[in-house]
Amino acid sequence: MAAVPILDTVWLVGSGTHPDAYTDPHDCHCYLIWDGTGGILIDAGTGLGADQWLAAVAEVCDPQTLAGVVLTHYHADHAGGAAAAHAAGIPLLASAATADALITGDEERTSLARARAAGVYPPDYRLTPATIDQVLTGGETLAAGDLPVEILPAPGHCDGHMVALARTPDRSLLFSGDCLFAGGQISIQAIPDCRLDQYADTVIALAERDIDTLLPGHGAVVLDDAGGAIQTAAASFRRLVPPPNVLS
Ligand SMILES: [Zn+2]
Repeated sequence: MAAVPILDTVWLVGSGTHPDAYTDPHDCHCYLIWDGTGGILIDAGTGLGADQWLAAVAEVCDPQTLAGVVLTHYHADHAGGAAAAHAAGIPLLASAATADALITGDEERTSLARARAAGVYPPDYRLTPATIDQVLTGGETLAAGDLPVEILPAPGHCDGHMVALARTPDRSLLFSGDCLFAGGQISIQAIPDCRLDQYADTVIALAERDIDTLLPGHGAVVLDDAGGAIQTAAASFRRLVPPPNVLS
């Protein structure tokens, strides 16, 4: 386990699959944006690998100097580590829907009860409640040091999903959570708040943005020309056909 550099200002600091950034098999990819003067984390994993995740962050910077961790959505593989981050002195930033679900560790709203019954998580796994420090509405521009990080609403995969669009001097980076994946795949599940009509609007709106690099919550990162994959997904949705599902 280590902080794995992706770009000059981005590290993979947690993952359920990357061999070098591995924290816990149930964790999403957790990213650190750090420009040498300040930074922001994207997603917190399940909490099962929180010690390793926080240690990886500390390889790059002092975690207590970070502006916070942006939780893209309330699913446990992305937000279960929120309480551990807060305990480590890292502010929590998320949408109102995520804030409402996490304050009680709501297993119905987050679909954790369904996912655990489906065998996605260990039988004894629980979502540790956490209080969000800053509720995001979308449209905010946060700062990772001198790098702007724009927060955009991105519902569809679940309610309250947000994505983060960061700009370095030479490229734009979309931290897409579970909204978009390499190859223009999306993530559709049979859960109450997966909403295909909203998903279509989200992806079509993202296709209007200038995006070079895609850093999703799972799977491969797309370092260059990520806009093409997003355009492909948007074109499918415009024909009212959901793009390929990353889940199978
Ligand atoms: Zn999810």
